[in-house]
Amino acid sequence: MNSIWNEKLIFELGAPGRRAFSLPASDVPEMELDWPENIFREEAPGLPEVSEPELVRHYTALSRLNHGVDTDFYPLGSCTMKYNPKVDEALAALPGFAGIHPYLPEELVQGALQLIYEMEAYLAEISGMDRVTMQPAAGAHGELTGILLVRAYHRCRGENRTRILVPDSAHGTNPATAAMAGYQVVSVPSDQRGGVDVAALGKLLDERVAGLMLTNPNTLGLFDENIHIIADMVHKVGGLLYYDGANTNAIMGYTRPGDMGFDVVHFNLHKTFATPHGGGGPGAGPVGVKKDLVPFLPVPLVDFDGKRYYFNYDLPHSIGKVRSFYGNFGVVVKAYAYIRSLGAEGLKQVSRDAVLNANYLMAHLKKYFYLPYDRFCKHEFVISGKWQKERNGVKTLDMAKRLLDYGFHPPTIYFPLIVEEAMMIEPTETESKETLDRFIDAMIRIAREAEEEPEKIKGAPYTTYIGRLDEVAAARKPELRWRAGK
Ligand SMILES: *Cc1c(COP(=O)(O)O)cnc(C)c1O
Repeated sequence: MNSIWNEKLIFELGAPGRRAFSLPASDVPEMELDWPENIFREEAPGLPEVSEPELVRHYTALSRLNHGVDTDFYPLGSCTMKYNPKVDEALAALPGFAGIHPYLPEELVQGALQLIYEMEAYLAEISGMDRVTMQPAAGAHGELTGILLVRAYHRCRGENRTRILVPDSAHGTNPATAAMAGYQVVSVPSDQRGGVDVAALGKLLDERVAGLMLTNPNTLGLFDENIHIIADMVHKVGGLLYYDGANTNAIMGYTRPGDMGFDVVHFNLHKTFATPHGGGGPGAGPVGVKKDLVPFLPVPLVDFDGKRYYFNYDLPHSIGKVRSFYGNFGVVVKAYAYIRSLGAEGLKQVSRDAVLNANYLMAHLKKYFYLPYDRFCKHEFVISGKWQKERNGVKTLDMAKRLLDYGFHPPTIYFPLIVEEAMMIEPTETESKETLDRFIDAMIRIAREAEEEPEKIKGAPYTTYIGRLDEVAAARKPELRWRAGK
């Protein structure tokens, strides 16, 4: 790469004794501490010694190697990578929120407790559930919590059910969750329209079934209109319905999982409610439940006695804690600020615009790329690189890499598994028509390049800091450790 970047690691920058800070002289006497010799290092830890400009430039340069929602369009389907309003950051950074300690007594954190209490009410209202725990740290963690609640519910009734049903379009975390909770995972096929194959579901339902995990709209971005029939069928054999709430961005204010017949729901605050994600978090995956499942929720919940807010540990059938303290509180504050700043009408508009943007993109792109399920979508849709692969030997992976050259983050690719050469595109509501048009242009150019210069696409990307990686080697033999002097 003919780059002008300073490619050095922070450990290789600077010089001994250089500093990015200076402290005032100490105005307290030095203490002789009587610590045992063996707790001291033999050698200095070799930390970087850099000036402030070196430090700032290092991290700024690193940030420019990444694509983020603050850089440009990021249509990563299923992930809802929407712009995160900066006001939410500012509010979460208020000292009263950012500086509190989880061991502070209730009397000193009434505001934080009120925020959790009110957030619970909002999420319950949005989802149609009765109570919500803020503890789970992300969607997948919410799933595990939710399925453990389902298990506790059945066990409490003396039933030992062994199976969880999961559609073949499901996110990988769904079957993984069910397996982790000790269930046998049974896959339910999709029908011609991309929804649950109801006849096939009927054949799988019996008293061994603990529940069905469903995403609606599903990972194809399609709303399953049979949801009431499905819910009745599952409930009839005594099973429960788990709602994977990752796609809540499509439905806010229009429909609610609780009204569709679901018993347990997780939210991904870092998706729907505009808190930053990527790079491993932090996220938040609150879980809402219907009345019958409330006694099993993790402790504590936050309640209000008319005068003060308090932690309620009085849930005799609780599955216990699923995380230290009360969840990722900072993320909850940002999501709370987001909900409060938009209001009920604003949230509805979010979903309306997200769906509109997705349909706009889909209508333009389906002329150039195979669209396996040609019907109105919700907030995302799945097209396929099948035509390009068959005609020109250009794979979806190649086209995804080529998008980087045009300045866009690629969509999710090769997921859902039931669509070959899948590209799952989710524009979100925060993108303007101009941005969507730029993306359409780039996709049309790539379709044309696939016809005219297929070899060029197969070598993409060309304009990024790092070119095409050997992804297998990167995953199997990652070199993550830097050693001094090597
Ligand atoms: C993102 C996602 C999950 C998992 O959520 P995390 O917050 O990433 O753990 C589960 N299901 C679907 C459909 C998702 O898109």
